Order: sequence, then C-alpha cells, then structure tokens
Amino acid sequence: MMLDVADLSAHYGQAQALWEVSLTIGAGEIVCVVGPNGAGKTTLAKTIAGLHRASGGRISVAGTDVTALPNHAICHHGVAIVPEGRHIFADMSVRDNLLLGAYRPAARADYRESEARIYELFPRLAERPRQRAASMSGGEQQMLAIGRALMSKPSMLILDEPSLGLAPVIVDEVFDAIGTINAAGVTVLMVEQDVHRSLEIADRGYLLIEGRIAVAGSSDDLRASAEVRQRVLGQ
Ligand code: ATP
Repeated sequence: MMLDVADLSAHYGQAQALWEVSLTIGAGEIVCVVGPNGAGKTTLAKTIAGLHRASGGRISVAGTDVTALPNHAICHHGVAIVPEGRHIFADMSVRDNLLLGAYRPAARADYRESEARIYELFPRLAERPRQRAASMSGGEQQMLAIGRALMSKPSMLILDEPSLGLAPVIVDEVFDAIGTINAAGVTVLMVEQDVHRSLEIADRGYLLIEGRIAVAGSSDDLRASAEVRQRVLGQ
C-alpha cells in the first residue's frame, strides 16, 4: 500500500475538522477525495503531507509510520504536495522555483533530467524559464507548482484543488498532465471540487462530508451515489 490512513483526526483549536478518516491508496492509483465546501478536503491533504498535525490516528507511507513527521521529512519518504493556492515564490524565476523543489537529496543529483521532463510535460514553462513567477497566468502558476513538486521525484503526489480558479481549457491541460504523471508511475491523491473531471481520471474516490468519509468506491460507484449527487453535484 502506498498510503494507508487509519482513523485520522485533526483539529483547529477545539474544533474538529477530521473525524477518524480512513483511506488507502495502492501504488500507481489515482484516487480523488471530493466533498462540499468546508468538508475538510484541504485539512486532509495538509495532514497527510505533514503540514497540519494529526490529533489522532495513523498515516503510513509504503509501510512506514509518518504520522508525527513534518512536511520536509515526509518529502524524504517520497510524498510531495501541491498546496491549494500554489505557494510558488512570486519574485523568483520559473527555473529557480523548479530548482528549489529538488532539495531532497535523492532528487538533487537528477535535477537536470527532472527539469527537462517537466519542460516536456509543460511546454509553457519551457518557453519562459527566466520569467518571474508572479507575472505568469494562474494556469501557468499551477503548472509551475506541479513542476516544483515533481522536482523532488515523488512516488506520490498530493494535489489540493488543482483546477481552482482556472479556465476550462487550462483545467484540461492540467488534468491531462496529471494523467501523464500517473502513467509515468507516480501515485496521485487529488482533492477536488470539480467532481466530474476528477472522477474521469481517478480509479477510485471518496466523498468527504463534515470531516467524515461518507462514501467510498470506484468512480462509477461515486457517480451513481445518491449522496454524491445531492452533496456535490447538486442534482
Ligand atoms: P474548501 O473546499 O472550501 O476549501 P475544504 O473541504 O478544503 O473546503 P477545509 O479547508 O479543510 O475544507 O476546512 C474544514 C473545516 O476546518 C472548516 O470548518 C473550516 O472552517 C475549518 N478550518 C480550516 N482551516 C482552518 C484554520 N486555519 N483555522 C480554523 N479553522 C479552520
């Protein structure tokens, strides 16, 4: 199992945002977590990536317990996150943003090869390595954020709302790239509001409601679920 999350809880002060969430992801899968606003999707992504502390439960990556580890240590176990809002370095160039992603020792030696692969994946980045990140479009910034995460040569990529705020044509490009990344062997956990598109590329999914897993199943199961239809598709 690439990722095994068991009975995971998380709080903000007294307020509980995740309630004993359990999910698993096998190596090579694309799994999505969908849910309405405030369901806890971002909290789940951040807690798995070590950006928010778990208050209960266990997270293991390829059999290693990483529950108490901070983000940089989890990165050493091969997990990279593309956070909501992208968090790229606005005043730095495209290329420097990418190079910062290669700080993991296992990735540093191969940075040239990784960089070339990312430029192949995102030709828009290849056209402007020296451009200041802040001056790029939202879609290009999302590509850069994904590229930076890939520079750490992760075995699993966590994406938090990759389509947020992007024009539909750019969302297509980003989702195509996620498919290509997965086909190259990277396991993907995606947290998304765009349920249709997520289920199109995911093998399986989970519906998160008020911090709890409400439905789990194949993409077809989720599409057919009355709860998914009511809570996130508005049908
Ligand atoms: P959205 O789709 O709107 O981003 P989400 O499903 O990602 O929502 P979270 O952002 O994880 O949901 O929020 C889950 C719950 O935790 C919400 O009730 C939210 O108000 C609360 N929450 C999130 N971040 C904080 C914070 N920094 N401090 C306090 N409460 C928070």
